[in-house]
Amino acid sequence: MTDATPTAAELADRVRAGDLRLHELEEHADADTAATARRRLVAAESDADVDVLGEYVFDAADAGPNIENMVGAVQIPLGVAGPVTIDGGVLSGSRYLPLATTEGALVASINRGCTVLNDAGGATARVTKTGMTRAPVFRVADVAEAEALVGWVRGNEDALREAAESTTSHGELLDVTPYVVGNNVYLRFRYDTKDAMGMNMATIATGEACDVIEAETTASLVALSGNLCSDKKPAAINAVEGRGRSVAADVEIPREVVTDRLHTTPEAIAEINTRKNHVGAAKAGALGFNAHVANAVAALFLATGQDEAQVVEGANAITTAETTPDGDLYVSVSLASLEVGTVGGGTKLPTQTAGLEILEVSGGGDPAGSNADALAEAIAVAALAGELSLLAALGSRHLSSAHADLGR
Ligand code: NAP
Repeated sequence: MTDATPTAAELADRVRAGDLRLHELEEHADADTAATARRRLVAAESDADVDVLGEYVFDAADAGPNIENMVGAVQIPLGVAGPVTIDGGVLSGSRYLPLATTEGALVASINRGCTVLNDAGGATARVTKTGMTRAPVFRVADVAEAEALVGWVRGNEDALREAAESTTSHGELLDVTPYVVGNNVYLRFRYDTKDAMGMNMATIATGEACDVIEAETTASLVALSGNLCSDKKPAAINAVEGRGRSVAADVEIPREVVTDRLHTTPEAIAEINTRKNHVGAAKAGALGFNAHVANAVAALFLATGQDEAQVVEGANAITTAETTPDGDLYVSVSLASLEVGTVGGGTKLPTQTAGLEILEVSGGGDPAGSNADALAEAIAVAALAGELSLLAALGSRHLSSAHADLGR
């Protein structure tokens, strides 16, 4: 910066005078000064006390890829549950679970679940399917041309793969699934995006493949995303086919642990799970057949820099509970479409990196993809702990008293 660099007050004045637009401030001053100028403008306009928004720990310039028109940062309390013992396909060992939330009793609930999981010897977790998807929509003349396009795609997957993979050193095109609706053709491209959540990666790669399709066929690209992907909307296709990581966690809990620790029985938990999570959810037309998986997913997403809007798909989970022939309790949770990454997006911000480091999954894994798999396993175990704790609270009729005891 030179002496000619404007102050925040001067920048704010220039915006008021119509000389500068709100998003142009970083062209004239450093990112922190630009954010300060915007806070002045917002405060003047709204009478809000926004100074607190300026108390952030990262360099505003580093948040450039994550935010526009930055004014500051909000802070969300971070707690930990655990440590919990995880027997994962990748993540094996004991981990604290970082949980960012403003919902009192959530961390306590997941922590109680972790204690029970530990008493049962730990939870098992596995990623069973991987694939980030992008589904462009093409316009064709009629169904005959739609069929021709589908045939062309099936016969030219190698050419599509070559084009798509030319844009990324990590991403791999796994397959392309066509869906036809009259003169609309949707091509659901599915990628292994390794440790990246992969939405940018998949979109850029699919764009390149679409250029090949338009050059070689009569189809016209209408939109790079045709909503069959399906991103940030509740959608059955994600529940059935998966998106991001499909990950499951389970545990078998000795009867005495259930009675002594949770003050209920395996039979009560199994019955509540069936009548509430399955029958009740079915009657409600829900996509998720669980008690509160969104809580664990959201808190871990915020703590580790995930795209928070994707809690929509992340909470697409089914919880099962049954008694074993020995009278113990088996509980599982299966998250069909958990979209997570340990590189890219919000993972590079220092507080979010710290969250990933608590789980020992920050950055690219060795082999690539293993850190994102491990993160998915940790989230599945957190969800399992949360399900167990809430089902038990309902079983012992402690739900409202637990909230009351914790002061809310
Ligand atoms: P990204 O930061 O755009 O891409 C990930 C980057 O990490 C790539 O440049 C990749 O390089 C690199 N990389 C380094 N090591 C890697 C490893 N071990 N595994 C995988 N990649 C590695 O992130 P993204 O995950 O693709 O996209 C996430 C972002 O997309 C978030 O900010 C999210 O909010 C946003 N988003 C975008 C859309 C959209 O439609 N575009 C939709 C929803 C969300 P190479 O590619 O060269 O391999």
